Amino acid sequence: MKSEKLVTNFSLLKNDFPLLSETNRGKPIVYLDSASSAQKPELVIEAIKHFYQHDYANIHRGIYEISERATDLYELSREVTANFINANKDEVVLTSGTTGAINLVAESYGRSNFQAGDEVILSELEHHSNIVPWLMLKKQIGIVIKVIPVNDDGSLDLNAYLALFGKRTKLVAITHISNVIGTINPVREMIQTAHEHNVPVLVDGAQAVPHMPVDVKALDCDFYVFSSHKIYGPTGMGVLYAKKKILDSMPPYQGGGGMIDTVSFSDVTYISGPQKFEAGTPNIAGAIGMMAALNYLSQIGMQPIFDHQQALLGYAEKQLSQLDGLRVIGTSRPKSGVISFVFDDIHPHDVGTVLDHEGVAIRAGHHCAMPLMDRFKVPATVRASLGLYNNEADIDALVSALQLAKRIFS
Ligand code: PMP
Repeated sequence: MKSEKLVTNFSLLKNDFPLLSETNRGKPIVYLDSASSAQKPELVIEAIKHFYQHDYANIHRGIYEISERATDLYELSREVTANFINANKDEVVLTSGTTGAINLVAESYGRSNFQAGDEVILSELEHHSNIVPWLMLKKQIGIVIKVIPVNDDGSLDLNAYLALFGKRTKLVAITHISNVIGTINPVREMIQTAHEHNVPVLVDGAQAVPHMPVDVKALDCDFYVFSSHKIYGPTGMGVLYAKKKILDSMPPYQGGGGMIDTVSFSDVTYISGPQKFEAGTPNIAGAIGMMAALNYLSQIGMQPIFDHQQALLGYAEKQLSQLDGLRVIGTSRPKSGVISFVFDDIHPHDVGTVLDHEGVAIRAGHHCAMPLMDRFKVPATVRASLGLYNNEADIDALVSALQLAKRIFS
């Protein structure tokens, strides 16, 4: 944040993001693909540059000043991350992303706790990142995957959810917000239900942490995961929150330097705490960039960000509803600023091509959620997704590019 005034003036925030003043196919960029990855504010870029220029060394090893400084910054990032989601520092593992975090849980917690026939409950809304690691356990040890169905409006069928619990249920793994249709799931209530059955819950927060306040203690989730690159931070960085008792009980997932206490050729002992899961030289610059992004978001405030995007979502839905033949998929409330739609007679990829030539960056495809495409019987959708820098002019540009696509293809 450059000044206090910006806290309430969202129209100025775009200026914080250098790439947004550039062009796409010769037209000013209209960036509506933040659900895929968010643009980076200058201060994140600067934080990474400053680190490499002035503070760079490996961490947890050196006995010299720069290494101590790098270690302090890395550990400060863990603390800032923990504070951001109301966790404790020793409950936060720094990972390569949401995908890395879910794979860590599957490989460590899953492999050491699940047996053939044990059940994991997922939902039809899941991103492939929260399906494939469990399918791998299905192939490897024979777990059974149960799926919460999605209603026609894009909400989860909570009665069906209740009916899925049984004696063999070992974990619920659900997304907080759908990356395809924006449904905000009632995860607090779903966690309560799971806990009544003594089942822990993993929440995939990749689409929630960038857009709304998240408090892992209030949610009472057992695991919460998210990615830095969607919260305006660098790629290759992410977070696994796990309740301390659970984290302490988990075996390490990968072995190497930085996570051991003693090593001989006959045995190894591990250090305790999150570092047990951070083998090898971690993404130090990524952690520092993520910290800068989280500080940026904290200064603006997550509730104002949520409110801004909700207002913009309402505007976008109203404008899009004026386009003949456009069908929005996922209309349930509450919903975040992710809008998926299809046209009766134009393929999503053709829409994407026209939009690209107009400078409008959206995503067309299955959005790494093939089961959800099957559920709604579409091969793909066009998805426009909002970030804190978007405004009504971006929506107007989207709508006029869509009008052009309609003219070209009809
Ligand atoms: N889950 C959800 C809901 C997502 O939106 C994404 C990214 N599209 C992922 C998981 C995977 O995140 P990453 O690629 O950063 O690991």
